[in-house]
Amino acid sequence: MSTTLSMTLQKPMRVSIAGLTLALKERLRERLELAATLRCAEHDLPVVEVTIYGRENGWFDSRITTCCDVLEQRAAAIVKQRC
Ligand SMILES: [Zn+2]
Repeated sequence: MSTTLSMTLQKPMRVSIAGLTLALKERLRERLELAATLRCAEHDLPVVEVTIYGRENGWFDSRITTCCDVLEQRAAAIVKQRC
């Protein structure tokens, strides 16, 4: 979902994680760092925010906020759905 982001542009990617143990968060760290380096080809903007909701057995739901759907899909492909 694209949203109005004019006040948050060009800030570092925000990450919030709920419901994962420290060990599982650690496994996600490299993927989140990689996602933070992505830029939208059209606007040259990074991912705004990634929110992770842990479920069971290392699976999680993620909500990724970006300027464009294409960037959101690229970030989702990196973060994936399981630690
Ligand atoms: Zn964009």
